[in-house]
Parts: sequence; structure tokens; C-alpha cells
Amino acid sequence: MGGWQQKIKTHSSPKQNNYLSLLANRQRAWVEIDLKALAHNVRALKSFLGHQTKLMAVVKADAYGHGAITIAQTAVANGADCLAIATLAEGVELRQAGITEPILILGAINSPEDIKEIAAWQLEPTICNQEQALVFESTMARVGNSLPVHLKLDTGMSRLGTNWQEAVSFVQLVQKLPHLKIASIYSHFSTADESDRTTMNLQHRRFRDAIDQLKQAGFVPPLLHLANSAAALSDRTCHYDLVRIGLALYGLYPAPHLHQVIDLQPVLRVKAKITQVKTIPAGEGVSYGRKFITAKDTKVAVVGIGYADGIPRNLSNRLQAIVSGQLVSQIGSITMDQLMLNVDCIPHIQPGEVVTLIGQHYGLQITADDWANILDTISWEILCGFKHRLPRINVN
Ligand SMILES: *Cc1c(COP(=O)(O)O)cnc(C)c1O
Repeated sequence: MGGWQQKIKTHSSPKQNNYLSLLANRQRAWVEIDLKALAHNVRALKSFLGHQTKLMAVVKADAYGHGAITIAQTAVANGADCLAIATLAEGVELRQAGITEPILILGAINSPEDIKEIAAWQLEPTICNQEQALVFESTMARVGNSLPVHLKLDTGMSRLGTNWQEAVSFVQLVQKLPHLKIASIYSHFSTADESDRTTMNLQHRRFRDAIDQLKQAGFVPPLLHLANSAAALSDRTCHYDLVRIGLALYGLYPAPHLHQVIDLQPVLRVKAKITQVKTIPAGEGVSYGRKFITAKDTKVAVVGIGYADGIPRNLSNRLQAIVSGQLVSQIGSITMDQLMLNVDCIPHIQPGEVVTLIGQHYGLQITADDWANILDTISWEILCGFKHRLPRINVN
């Protein structure tokens, strides 16, 4: 028995997935995660916040595409006090990896089955309204244990939470439920990344009013939190006891005007290899639909990365890449697994050479913000878009 059948035999063990990822790591295209940059960002954020304010590292959506377990471990090792994710499964993934810090679930959980899992894994849920609080209470009564819960107020985002004007009745109801312990009260901004502060200030006033009313009603507020990355970097009065930081951890700025506030380094890089180089004669179409026609004889490099890896097809003919210390243009439609670059300006280019699509090289830099600007979207969406076909390689 030889060839691939022998390989199946050798690798049909629980380690088989490691074998597949080993192959993937050697091939084509990958995402590099710069853990030094992450450590730098966490420490920079910690010193920016000072001792009064805790740092909650938001690692939902697989840490914005960076890999939740490694990011959570590195963030905690460098000073993050607690973690937040969006879904039950994301929280369980972190617990299974041995992470013991408090983990807040930002999303809403409603079913008794899920509530039991939350309790079993010692995750901390968000409670958005009275009905949900009552389901949690009856489930925890049956479990025979109590649960720390975080109450969400809606101050103008109009997503999860109880209207800030009903904070007192909401909190008083939860206070009376013997199996729920109020760990924090929080809200979320809708416009903190805009330079116009009108709505942000209004939401902040509403949050303060709600807390004032709770105090007047005799309630001693537990932990309070309000700020995401943009609010934390732009307004210290929003810090309260804790800030929930996502984007800034990953080294991106929520808005251009925040660059001078803190030094952050991008954590994620996207790289791929050139698989073929050839010269296309003048007047030929490049790729599906002939959306690029060569004006003259043109040297073209084929690169093994495409939209199935998370390179948005709408970047076709608008994307740039760094090759051999030069910025080159991507040409023609981006295809599922491959794209083409115009490398006419690079003399000795060879298959196997590495192309940087996002990252810094030779003093040149392409960021997720550059892609977001071209596509009229936000860097958060770009980061979350890289697919699991791209292996993530952690670089220390
Ligand atoms: C995602 C999220 C955050 C983090 O936002 P960034 O802008 O990435 O810092 C904070 N709070 C809530 C409720 C979130 O959903």
C-alpha cells in the first residue's frame, strides 16, 4: 500500500486535523497574527485607562477573525481583566481552552437549556428585560444555584436592553429575584466613532440619569460600564468602572481623529504566495468578464488567494498589494481561489514569492481601513471576513 492510501493510514488518527492544518500552513495563503502587537496594544490601553478602570477584552466573532483562544490568552496575560463574547458557544470555547477569567455574554440568551449551560460553564449573561429575568430566575431556581447577571439599558442604540427611563422598575424587579445577582449595569453607544458628539453626549446623559434615579431609589450601583473602543479613546468621562474594548485591541482606530490619542499596532496580516508569473500581450482580457484589458504587454503574477478566503470580490481592480518592496495593482476580477497582480515594474519576480495584502513590509503599509474605505464599509467587517480556509499563524 503506497501513495495517498498509506498517508490515510498514517494520518487517520485524532491528529489528522493537525496534519491538514500543517499542509494548509505550508501552502498558498495565510493570516499572520502578531501577538507582540496585541500585547503592545493591551498594555498601551491599560496605561491609557489607569488603575481605576478595568479592561474587558471583546473577543466575539472569533476575536474579530483573529482566533479567540490565542487572543484571549494573550490579552489576559498582558493585563486584560475580563472577556466578552457574543454567543454561548463562543464562551464555552474559551472555558474549554482553560480560560478562567470572567466572561460576559453580550448577546441575549432566552432558552432554559442555554441558561443551564451558562451556569454550568460559569459564564455571565446579559439580561435585557423583565421577561428574560423571570426565565433566568425560574431556571436557576430549578438548578438550585445563583448567577451573576449584567443588566442592559437602552440609551439610544435601540438594540438590546430596557429603555433607560424604566431602569428603576427593571432593576428593582431583578433585585428581588433570589437566584440572580446583579454584577453590572451597562449600556452601549451608537455613534461613539463620529466626531460629532451630540448623540453620544445624549446617550451618556441618559445613562447618568438612569444611575442617578437608581441611587435615589436607594440602590447601590454595582460595576457600571458604557464605553466601546471609540468612546474609551475619545472621552474619559465614559470610562466608569470598566471599558469594553474590541477594535483597538486589534490595533485599528475606530476613527481617524483618534490616531493621536494612543499608539496601536495592527495585529493581523494577510499574505499569499505567487503561483505563476507570465507576460500577457497587449489587448488581452484578464480574469472572468474581461474587466481588465492590458494596454501593453504586461507581466502578471497569479496569487493563490481569492474571495473564498475573504478577499471581497468588490475590491477587484481596486486592491493593492506589497511585493518585493513595491506597491502593485490587482487587476481583473478577483476569483474564488486566485487573483492577479500587475507586476510589470518588478524585474526578477518568481513563483513562491510572498505577497502582503494587509500588513506592513519595506516601510509600506496596507490596512483593513484602506479596504474599508474603498468598499464604503468599516474595518470591523473586513477583519471578521477572513475565512477559516486561511490558516492563522501566530507570530511572537
Ligand atoms: C462589540 C461590542 C463592543 C466592542 O466594540 P468595539 O467598537 O470593537 O470596541 C463593546 N460593547 C458591545 C455591547 C459590543 O457589542
